[in-house]
Amino acid sequence: MLAAECAPLAKVGGLADVVGALPKALANLGVDIRIALPFYGSIDKKLYKCKIIKNSIKISAGDAFSLCLTYLPGTKIPVYLIKHKYFAKKEIYQGGLKDLKRFAFFNQAALISAQAINFKPNIIHANDWHTAKTAELLKNNILENFFKNTKTLFTIHNLASQGPTDKSGKSPMAQGILNSNLINTVSPTYAREILTRTYGQGLGKILIKRKKDLFGILNGIDTDIFNPATDNLIKHKFSINSLPDKIKNKLALQKKLNLKQDKNIPLIGMITRLYKQKGINLVIKILPALLKQSCQFVILGTGQKNYEQNLKHLAKIYPKQTSAQIKFDEQLAHQIYAGSDIFLMPSLFEPCGLGQMIAMRYGTVPIVHATGGLADTVTPLQKGGREILPPDKGGLRGVSATGFTFKKHRTTELIKTLNQALHIYYQNPRLWHQLQINGMKKDSSWNNSARKYLKLYKKLAKINIA
Ligand code: ADP
Repeated sequence: MLAAECAPLAKVGGLADVVGALPKALANLGVDIRIALPFYGSIDKKLYKCKIIKNSIKISAGDAFSLCLTYLPGTKIPVYLIKHKYFAKKEIYQGGLKDLKRFAFFNQAALISAQAINFKPNIIHANDWHTAKTAELLKNNILENFFKNTKTLFTIHNLASQGPTDKSGKSPMAQGILNSNLINTVSPTYAREILTRTYGQGLGKILIKRKKDLFGILNGIDTDIFNPATDNLIKHKFSINSLPDKIKNKLALQKKLNLKQDKNIPLIGMITRLYKQKGINLVIKILPALLKQSCQFVILGTGQKNYEQNLKHLAKIYPKQTSAQIKFDEQLAHQIYAGSDIFLMPSLFEPCGLGQMIAMRYGTVPIVHATGGLADTVTPLQKGGREILPPDKGGLRGVSATGFTFKKHRTTELIKTLNQALHIYYQNPRLWHQLQINGMKKDSSWNNSARKYLKLYKKLAKINIA
């Protein structure tokens, strides 16, 4: 498994969560899976007990790297770390052509490392543009038949980030799509969407060419890390049977964020990178209108500077109702998942999205744009944009909904959906409670999806490389 990120060692976003969790589920199914990752300056050598296993492995004339080993915490899954000055700085990404060079180096070094320790995998599973080069390297047989029987699976986590284009005029993402034996993306809906002009990010045609080799497998979440019953990062642990304890987390969160402490005011949370993809522009536009109602809003995230400034500004205007936490903070993230009533994820597009699944596990009701993985994971209470209330008689047993969705990516739709949710929160607590329970009962673990990956691996292992 090759990737630029792997939680908890090196994380920027959802890619890290996937690479930190899927291997565990695959190992449980009997797969001998090993991860390769650049040894970034930010990875804590002591904490992860990183050992050098091979020094100065030659990569080209004069250039060499060291190979270190640690294990995915709590598992026996090896994580091989490629140590070279390219990765000495703390940042995972440095931007531009520099990254093209750094990650091309990583790909080559990872393959050479496998040979150096005589590990001949059936499959190399590459993730996103940073590791797209492996397929080409294998095709060009850089290691004289060592990988003769090795096949490649390329997972697209986000088609929007294709990597810098080199002299060939093709992005690493495009090359990965063309050169890998099979391709998948992280939800069935996104796998269909990317074949269209709207979502194809300019690669629609290439993807259509490979349509029969393209699959959609939903991401899962690490249900050991994201478990309200055992989570040490939250103030009060809770489960379906002790849902009132969730309120204690809300009060603690309100206090921590200097919001008015009131268990009855609905608290809307967001945890996200601050980019247009995540629908932040819509949120900034509707906030003044939304905050006219009795509700509170907290956002945790970093990203585009103008969004950061807008959010800080709004928090200044509405200090009792709004908190803008412009930073990356794992603990606060858990506390927001646990303490919010509503989790907002109005992404313009979303390959899979993890936030909504984590939120549901913590009894926080998601409101999402019905796109990509958001559409695949949130069962809406409304049909055709109109809320469907359960019949007065017959109770709530028939309600399978876990949240709210909206179809058109517009401020009017977002505010309408938020109002529907707030209305039910205030007027129909029993129904609200049912939404929470349904979300908490939903199986978002990796078990099902890991089986689907294994099926793809098996399918691949039988393919002859052309
Ligand atoms: P993406 O991969 O596009 O960033 P996902 O929803 O798939 O979006 O995954 C985002 C992951 O990163 C989630 O685990 C979320 O909780 C976490 N995250 C995002 N921003 C922050 C932040 N500022 N602090 C802590 N965790 C964050």
